[in-house]
Order: sequence, then C-alpha cells, then structure tokens
Amino acid sequence: MNLELQEIRNSVRQLCEGYGEEYWLELDRENGYPTEFVKELTESGFLTVLIPEEYGGAGLGVIEAAVVMEEVCRAGAHAGACHAQMYVMGSVLRHGNASQKKKYLPEIAAGRIRLQSFGVTEPTTGTDTTNLKTTARKDGDEYVIDGQKVWISRIQHSDLMVLLARTQGRDEVSKKTEGLSAFIIDIREAEGNGLTIQPIESMINHHSCELFFDGLRIPKDNLLGEEGKGFKVILDGMNAERILIAAECIGDGRYFIDKASNYAREREVFGRPIGKNQGVQFPIARCYAEIEAAALMVEKGARLFDAGEACGAEANMAKMLASEASWRAGDMCMQTHGGFAFSKEYHIERKFRETRLYQIAPISTNLILSYIGEHVLDLPRSF
Ligand SMILES: Cc1cc2nc3c(=O)[nH]c(=O)nc-3n(C[C@H](O)[C@H](O)[C@H](O)COP(=O)(O)OP(=O)(O)OC[C@H]3O[C@@H](n4cnc5c(N)ncnc54)[C@H](O)[C@@H]3O)c2cc1C
Repeated sequence: MNLELQEIRNSVRQLCEGYGEEYWLELDRENGYPTEFVKELTESGFLTVLIPEEYGGAGLGVIEAAVVMEEVCRAGAHAGACHAQMYVMGSVLRHGNASQKKKYLPEIAAGRIRLQSFGVTEPTTGTDTTNLKTTARKDGDEYVIDGQKVWISRIQHSDLMVLLARTQGRDEVSKKTEGLSAFIIDIREAEGNGLTIQPIESMINHHSCELFFDGLRIPKDNLLGEEGKGFKVILDGMNAERILIAAECIGDGRYFIDKASNYAREREVFGRPIGKNQGVQFPIARCYAEIEAAALMVEKGARLFDAGEACGAEANMAKMLASEASWRAGDMCMQTHGGFAFSKEYHIERKFRETRLYQIAPISTNLILSYIGEHVLDLPRSF
C-alpha cells in the first residue's frame, strides 16, 4: 500500500465527514453551491495538489489528485462543483507565459482566485469542436470576442475562465485544428461588459450556464499559448481531465457498492437479510468486480500521465470503463434499495443522476470508442 496516497485518502475522507450527505441534498434541492466545502478543500491544499511548489501548490501528480476526487465522490459529495480547478489550471501551467503563471498560479494556490470554468462547447457544433463559431478578432491591443457557448459549468463561482475561440476562419487554415486560440477571461470584468451569463435548468446541480459574447474586449496579453494553436492548449488538458473524472466515477461506484452492501446486510424481508439472496448479492459482487477493474485502468492512466508518457488511450479507456461501471453500480444500488431508493432521504437518486453525466461529458462514450478505433486500432477514420 502506498502510505502517502493512503494518508491523502484518510485526510480527504475526514474533511468530507464535516459535510454530510444532508449538506449535499440541501444544495441539490436549492441549486446551491458548496462554497464552504470548496474553500476548505482549497485551503487544505487538496484542490491545488497539481500546482508546483514554486507557485505555492503541493507539486504532486495526477495519481494523488485522482485519489482526492475519488474520495470526495465516495463520501457522497458532488466533485463536479470543484474538479475543474485541478485540470483547467494545467492549461495555464503548461501553456501560460512566465508573467501569466506568476500572476495567476500563486493566487489560485492560495485560494484567492478561482479558475473553475472552461468554455469550449457551443450549441450548434457540440462534439465537433473544431467547427466552433465563437470568434476573437484582434483590434489594437485587444481581442474582441463574439459568439455563444453552452453548458459552461461553475462560471458563476469562478473568477477566471479559459475560452476557446476562432482567430482565423476555417476556410483560411489548411488543418481544421488550426486557427483556434485559447484565452484567459476575467469573468469579474467581462460580465455585463460584453458577456451575458444565463443559468441552465438541468437534471443535476452542476451550475452550468449559457454564455453570450457580444463585442467583449479583452487585453491581448490574455492569449494563452500561441495564437492559432489553442486546440493543443485544450487538448493537452484533456487526458488529466479524463483520468480525474474517471476517478470520480470510481468514487461514485464505491459509494454505491458500500450503500448497497450495507443495506443488503440490514434489510430483512421474508425473515432474512435480502443480501442472503444471491439474486441481490450477485449484482453487488459484479459491480464490485467492474469498479475494481476500471480502477486499475485509472491508475495506469494516472501513472503514465505523471511519467510524462503518452496516455491518450488509457485516459480515454479509464473514463469510459469507470463511467459505465459507476452507472451500473448506481442502477444496482437503486434495485437493492427497492422503493426506498426513490426517497431523497436515501441520497441514492441524487448520486444516480450525477454519475450519469460522465458517459456524456466531458466527452461521450461514442467519441471515446472512435478514438480507440482510429488511434489505437488503426481503423478507418469516420469524421
Ligand atoms: C452538466 C454538463 C456540464 C458541462 N460542462 C461543460 C463545461 O464546463 N465546458 C464545456 O465546454 N462543455 C461542457 N459540457 C458540454 C459537454 O462537454 C458536451 O455536452 C459533450 O461534449 C457532448 O456534446 P453535445 O452535448 O453537443 O453532443 P453532440 O455532439 O450533439 O452529440 C450527441 C450524441 O451524438 C453522438 N455523436 C455525435 N457525433 C457522433 C459521431 N460522429 N459518431 C458517433 N456518435 C456521435 C455523441 O456521442 C452523443 O451521444 C457540459 C455538459 C453537461 C451536460
């Protein structure tokens, strides 16, 4: 057993105990944001584990960050409220210039600035990212941004956002991935000055919004990385994002398995615990096996990422396997609890809704299968 990882696990578990399931249920009911929880997670250094020590973070790897996210989910919490701070920060770390890193990273590490939001998805292009329509036009010392984004999460609880926009038309570039640029947007200055934010009523409490850009002016210094090479800025962060989301699914899966096992031991019908029936016991055992197998892929992806090795296949497979396994565990947990699963008081239906997201966002299962088909198995390209 890796003692350092176990220590992180225990400490995150302890922190989460201060925010019981009632806390999360109440937030879910009123679409509230877990401000106190996120603040404590940040101040304890867990949300900033990936920031290098020279900028005030813990300088740890994705393997440690994954353990943090897994434990948050296993405790019945909703990591979607805060996970992006971990991986969006990576775009600034890897592609920011020296002055951007100096300006933002220590502030993020100290919890004074929140970089919790990234704007890629658009209503008319969806998964076809390189076809996005939002434009950033250079005008003197500024860029002027026009367009629309959808499903942009946590923007109302963030100070900064990383935005992807077109700086050159698709007809002006030879490759569709060119001509896109990434920007750091200071939401505090932008809102009301060319940026309008509209919350989306949705199935889970994920704080997602629609964004309208109408002549938003930002300093040209807010360009992140090279102009026209923004797709790489976003792409580089995706493997970490997928591994961390997969770790959340492992946490969700273990949460469901714990709940179902406890209930199956305690609930008595026909004069014996329901778990004595193999019709109840086997689905729990199957989900356990599936989650443990997916966890191995998450760990493999994280270790490759931390070693600086190619991990696209593993990160994608981890996300797919873990999100499917957590969903099946959620379904099993519902079935094990019978009618009580529908009572909000049991918390299962909330987690069941939350874990469903991860087969769709940040990337859907079909797109992962397409990645494996093309990039791992060398099958013909489909789009
Ligand atoms: C709660 C929530 C939070 C989100 N947060 C963010 C965020 O913070 N920032 C952000 O930028 N985005 C965010 N998203 C957007 C998310 O990343 C997208 O919803 C996701 O990438 C899928 O895009 P889409 O919804 O446009 O689906 P579409 O691209 O319209 O696809 C619909 C379905 O068709 C399938 N499909 C499409 N094309 C193909 C093909 N060629 N072959 C096979 N199948 C195909 C897809 O797999 C999918 O199942 C969020 C979404 C949700 C629901």
